[in-house]
Amino acid sequence: ATTVTIAALGANPVFIDINPDTYNNHVNKIQEKITDKTKAIMPVHLFGQPAEMNKIMELSQKYNLKVIEDCAQSIGAEYHGKKAGSIGDIGCYSFFPSKNLGAYGDGGMLTSNNFGFAEKARILRQHGAKIKYYHDELGVNSRLDTLQAAILNVKSKYLPEWQEKRRSIAYKYNKELANIEYIVTPKEIDNCYSVYHQYTIRLVGKNRNQIQEQLKDNGVQTMIYYPVPLHLQKIHQSLGYKLGDFPESEKASNEVLSLPIFPELTEEEQNKVIGLLKTI
Ligand SMILES: *Cc1c(COP(=O)(O)O)cnc(C)c1O
Repeated sequence: ATTVTIAALGANPVFIDINPDTYNNHVNKIQEKITDKTKAIMPVHLFGQPAEMNKIMELSQKYNLKVIEDCAQSIGAEYHGKKAGSIGDIGCYSFFPSKNLGAYGDGGMLTSNNFGFAEKARILRQHGAKIKYYHDELGVNSRLDTLQAAILNVKSKYLPEWQEKRRSIAYKYNKELANIEYIVTPKEIDNCYSVYHQYTIRLVGKNRNQIQEQLKDNGVQTMIYYPVPLHLQKIHQSLGYKLGDFPESEKASNEVLSLPIFPELTEEEQNKVIGLLKTI
């Protein structure tokens, strides 16, 4: 979803490998990819953990680039005391039902401290018209549905509480899974408040399919985010990337497994997941 927005504008996404500890962009690999044609950096705050924004903002200032934060998985997350989405030029959020703040259908939001960008977004989302029926831009229909907005208004009050629940579930997994030698638990960077949209472990030297099947047979659903790294997706074939270009991303796609995490997960349910992983 992130890179298709770039391609839809006729621009080319340029990929970099991930930091294997966080699964976010490896910030030390951005600079070498910046050229005269570069317009923006688009960090994705993956799994609820903010990207290392200090470095990204430093580069954006140095090279005069815009920063568009993909906060679809990280609403409410913080980096050095600032909310994800408030650091760059624009923050993009999703209210797809499975997100931390989900509507009952599709929805999304942009934030910006730049009044020009906010105004432009308002125009683009309603068919490019600032004044109804006077169309100045090639816009789209992207209004937030009123019913979804009503649902989000109610649900948003609970978000801080849900975040705390997600974090305590994550810390319990961290503690209980720490001694299982084939599992690598997720790492939190310093000075950040991660909101654990996903709790993603690595399985090292184990047959992931088999473990996933065993968990499934015991009523535990797990997911693989993501089975195919972006540079190997069919849609981006024309960019000319190949297997081996981003070894950490490729390795992660073969090793990761996301365990159940959501505010309503009971202690008993979590204990069951942990118990299964200990005996597998
Ligand atoms: C869900 C998601 C999106 C897309 O959100 P939509 O509301 O489906 O457009 C974009 N980026 C990331 C990282 C996501 O998880």
